[in-house]
Amino acid sequence: LSGLVWFRRDLRTADHAALYRALTQCEQVHCAFVLDREILDGLPRRDRRVEFILASLEELDASLRALCGHPQGGLIVLHAVASEAIPALAHSLGVQAVFANHDDEPQALARDSLVRTRLAVAGKAFHTFKDHTIFERSEVLTQTGNPYSVFTPYKNAWLKKIDAFQLQSYPVERHAHRLAPRPQEHCQPVPALASLGFEASVSPAPGLPTGARGAQQLFDDFLGRIERYDHARDFPAVKGPSYLSVHLRFGTISPRVLARTANGLAQAGNPGAATWLSELIWRDFYFQILHHHPHVVGHSFKPAYDAIQWETGPEADALFAAWCKGSTGYPLVDAAMAQINQTGYMHNRLRMVVASFLVKDLGIDWRRGEAYFATHLNDFDLAANNGGWQWASSSGCDAQPYFRIFNPVSQSEKFDPEGKFIRRYLPQLAALPTKALHAPWLARPLELQEAGVRLGATYPLPVVEHDAARQRTLERYAVVKTAA
Ligand code: FAD
Repeated sequence: LSGLVWFRRDLRTADHAALYRALTQCEQVHCAFVLDREILDGLPRRDRRVEFILASLEELDASLRALCGHPQGGLIVLHAVASEAIPALAHSLGVQAVFANHDDEPQALARDSLVRTRLAVAGKAFHTFKDHTIFERSEVLTQTGNPYSVFTPYKNAWLKKIDAFQLQSYPVERHAHRLAPRPQEHCQPVPALASLGFEASVSPAPGLPTGARGAQQLFDDFLGRIERYDHARDFPAVKGPSYLSVHLRFGTISPRVLARTANGLAQAGNPGAATWLSELIWRDFYFQILHHHPHVVGHSFKPAYDAIQWETGPEADALFAAWCKGSTGYPLVDAAMAQINQTGYMHNRLRMVVASFLVKDLGIDWRRGEAYFATHLNDFDLAANNGGWQWASSSGCDAQPYFRIFNPVSQSEKFDPEGKFIRRYLPQLAALPTKALHAPWLARPLELQEAGVRLGATYPLPVVEHDAARQRTLERYAVVKTAA
């Protein structure tokens, strides 16, 4: 029996469910990745994620070569439509089965169902496995057998169910002698960015190490400060979180390794590790929400919220453009948008602040913000992004109540108290005294003059007045009051 492992959002060899299953079930195992035209063709021509994928594929290829030990070992990389290319490759390699890890996003499910059918027609099997999360689909249900829609009981049930078996790694290396050399025609190196029709991103993502080695480096670094995570994680100027999200997105690190380490430390009384484990559970939570409630793609989790009338028309478009560019006149919001635009990353606290600002200060449909994040975040993950946006707009499961509206100035004072983050991303305001930095329009004329700030010229005046916007939001959300 020979098999083909199709890598997708799992760009590593260590602790890889599908690779392990293929190696233990087949005599000969080939490995492939498809740079899927159906995905790539819709992306902007400068996309840091494509660069991240290519660099990570180089490392995956090297890792497979080393494990195979044959000069023609390594990863087969195709640039094609995956749903056609995988059945064709399975045919040309003469394998009996294709192995892959689950990808539960709606488009991926549709693609996989096509692949399954095409393989079946050719008498080949398509085996898929859980790998991307600790628990998935219907593995954690309420006592009455329903999916959870509130996080805390889900988390409690998750923690009750977790055991050493669930967190065990797949010992891929032990069976690596079954990796097959590539046929001559598939021995090409990983394609270059330009050959895919992409350009290098203008501003490099600083400190974004790629591949499994990069992920390990970040994780090692994080373990040195995980104990302080629960204090540090809310302050964007501080190196508090792990920065592992892009690696979790592309599977350059195993979620089991992360959860096992965090769980072990949490059991030993490390408070930061316990909080961090909760974040990994949020990740599983949103994946199972997407699985059980696929209508969240494009619709509110709570249907009543689809009755909300959002601002539309040229004025709303101009406000949306100001939000995207980071020129709303609210420094924390603008600095956060500069962070995503320059690096492809945004700190979690800031994601909540800018999402709330778009929806509840500007009155703009959360789906527009969700789409902007989907294009610009390195770690864009449909389930977590949709969950985050629906949380901020109050339309989601276990979301914040609609009448809770972040004040962008007090958020700034609380979470960037010395203005370090704002100064880093908005150098035009750097010379302002800290107090004035959070709300420059309240600064004394002399303070502005001495700092070289001319409101409306070097930095915008606020595009909305928060208290008035808050009132409008409460009125806008009145339609859901009875249904909520
Ligand atoms: P850490 O604090 O180190 O957390 C560790 C990991 O836990 C993260 O890498 C992530 O995989 C997971 N995690 C943490 N918080 C959450 C959460 N609230 N929901 C789900 N998983 C979580 N996360 C994404 O991975 N992709 C997205 O597209 C995404 N979009 C978001 C949009 C909005 C509006 C909001 C409010 C949050 C979003 N998040 C998203 C969640 C969170 O902001 C990021 O996971 C986090 O900032 C990534 O940084 P980190 O890896 O340093 O996080």
